[in-house]
Amino acid sequence: MTDTLFSKIIRREIPATIVYEDEDILGFKDIAPQAPVHVLFIPKHAPIPTLDDATAEQAPLLGRLLLAAAEYARREGLAQDGYRVVMNCREHAGQTVFHIHLHLLAGAPLGHFGTP
Ligand code: AMP
Repeated sequence: MTDTLFSKIIRREIPATIVYEDEDILGFKDIAPQAPVHVLFIPKHAPIPTLDDATAEQAPLLGRLLLAAAEYARREGLAQDGYRVVMNCREHAGQTVFHIHLHLLAGAPLGHFGTP
């Protein structure tokens, strides 16, 4: 994986509001939030540009991304009302940073999903 913006956030070379961290995963606030709560969860050590590049061996890590988002949502009191998780893959989804990441969106009704 080539060095990305998110690699720089992991190395603390550019600022981010980090709200979650464990051994494998970092969570930080999206710089252009699309909901009252918008946090990105990324793997810290695995070079995965897109979901299409993920391998079967990386399934546990992908699961941990989801569980990190769920843990954060519970901790922040967002789980009861609910939230959305999204992972964009390449051009048609509008992926702009090629370091796999999970969006957590919450804090208000999010409306219908899937309108182009
Ligand atoms: P995607 O479009 O799925 O690739 O998502 C990339 C996300 O990264 C977008 O929602 C951007 O707003 C967000 N983003 C870009 N630069 C930064 C940054 N420096 N800090 C936090 N989020 C960022």
